[in-house]
Amino acid sequence: LRRLVLVLGDQLDATASAFDDFDPCRDAVWMAEVREESTHVWSSRIRIALFLAAMRHFATTLRELGRPLHYVKLDEPGNAGSLAAELRRAVQRLRPECLVMTAPGDWRVLDALRAEAARLGLPLEVREDRHFFCTVREFAQHARGRKTLRMEHFYREQRQSHGVLMDGAVPVGGRWNLDAENREAFGPHGPGPVPAPVHFEPDAVTREVLALVAREFPEHPGELGSFTWPVTRAQALILLDSFMQHRLPDFGRWQDALWPDEPVLWHSQLSAAMNLRLLQPREVVAAAEARWRAGGVPLASAEGFIRQVLGWREFVRGVYWTRMPGLAAANALAAHEPLPAFYWTGKTDLPCLADALGQTLRTGYAHHIQRLMVTGLFGLLLGVEPAQMHAWYLAVYVDAVEWVELPNTLCMSQFADGGGITSKPYVASGRYIERMSSGRFCAQCRHAPGQRTGPAACPFTTLYWDFLQHHRERFRRHPRLGAQVRHLDRMSPADVAAVQAQAEALRARNRQAHDLAGAAGE
Ligand code: FAD
Repeated sequence: LRRLVLVLGDQLDATASAFDDFDPCRDAVWMAEVREESTHVWSSRIRIALFLAAMRHFATTLRELGRPLHYVKLDEPGNAGSLAAELRRAVQRLRPECLVMTAPGDWRVLDALRAEAARLGLPLEVREDRHFFCTVREFAQHARGRKTLRMEHFYREQRQSHGVLMDGAVPVGGRWNLDAENREAFGPHGPGPVPAPVHFEPDAVTREVLALVAREFPEHPGELGSFTWPVTRAQALILLDSFMQHRLPDFGRWQDALWPDEPVLWHSQLSAAMNLRLLQPREVVAAAEARWRAGGVPLASAEGFIRQVLGWREFVRGVYWTRMPGLAAANALAAHEPLPAFYWTGKTDLPCLADALGQTLRTGYAHHIQRLMVTGLFGLLLGVEPAQMHAWYLAVYVDAVEWVELPNTLCMSQFADGGGITSKPYVASGRYIERMSSGRFCAQCRHAPGQRTGPAACPFTTLYWDFLQHHRERFRRHPRLGAQVRHLDRMSPADVAAVQAQAEALRARNRQAHDLAGAAGE
């Protein structure tokens, strides 16, 4: 055998660089389902099932293309359980001259495979990942000499160099960013009819995977009963088309809105398909721009959506690869509280949190504002250790892969890098959730978002004021947060002390619940 081409679970693209010059007479492909990828964080069963089902469908595609494939199933006798150990077994059997792969998304995986190739004495060629608009080297050039990185600068460069939503040298409509038009709430009558989600009935291959995951990972979080994610490129294209037709037109307006029992609203749910490489960001961005150019989609929607894919998605990937491995240990705010045990069960008396956590465990999905301004916000205000937040986000979402999850969690949501990519921490009181859900969660809740102390105080609000007090000196002169911090100066010392005592009681209760859950083996 000349080359063994390594394909990981999130590299399901038959046109990837690893296949350049592939010769079916002399080369072969290797794919392996290994336990370690589902247990290094306590992965949700939905996430495991999605990866395995998509891998098995991609194996069929490769066979149809006539590419010889060595595929190891999770429950195959002798499966060594980790990528490195399985690779060793494959190399001993197949004796390739060299190994080739497209650059993996995870630092940990690249490190492990490089080390294993070195142990085996085999050259490992790691090729550019063409999936992205921006290469890691181009991002490093962008980052060079900048103390802090801002998505907006990067995004404008990307728009210009790829000619996206441009009128010659100027942005279409005269503005780069229509974020100010992406922040509406629904009002008291709610969202009205929301487009029906697209469901993909599990076929025989996926049903076999669902049974396997139920059998092999009985203790893991996440429910398997309502699995309807796209697992093939053909399905991903159907989801893309449906989003473009039914959701994109209103995506911009409702991008930041929240509503109980509405898990998707006008979001695309395309992240998992893109992260598995079933879809290319270029085709997603081109489809959104084409819709706008054809009329019928407001610019605030097309631009708002494209900003997420061409801007944020590419930006966080660059941040990951230029700041790892050190970034994983960042904890600028010295946060050391344990992750609330209810993040694994959804059982809390705060309806906003229960809603976001419940749908996460049921479906493996939550939209951005639920992740950032509900579950992320609560962790940040409570002072949860960033590494524990990271392990949770990496475990529970179907789109969770480290290059995108880690910078979002550590930098954007938990401010653990001290402002390397965001100008201020995303902190808010319960009033934010009240406003963005038009009061709907708070109406069902025994806590009052306007109260910071006393039995009816909203924990978000108590913890928000405590956060500002705790980090008072750090943020006093901050251009955007300073005014809120200086508000503390107008509070009496007794008021401030009451906030601190109530916040400490919330933390003590959290530690106790954590210890109890640990003792019960949850
Ligand atoms: P839409 O709202 O429809 O957005 C369109 C697309 O833009 C998404 O599919 C996604 O590819 C991209 N996008 C949007 N926001 C971001 C962002 N902040 N960073 C990168 N890409 C973005 N996204 C992941 O793909 N995987 C993760 O593991 C992940 N973890 C996150 C953890 C936290 C704490 C936070 C705050 C955000 C995280 N995100 C993650 C980003 C974002 O929340 C999800 O991409 C989005 O919610 C996916 O749903 P959607 O496809 O319906 O997105």
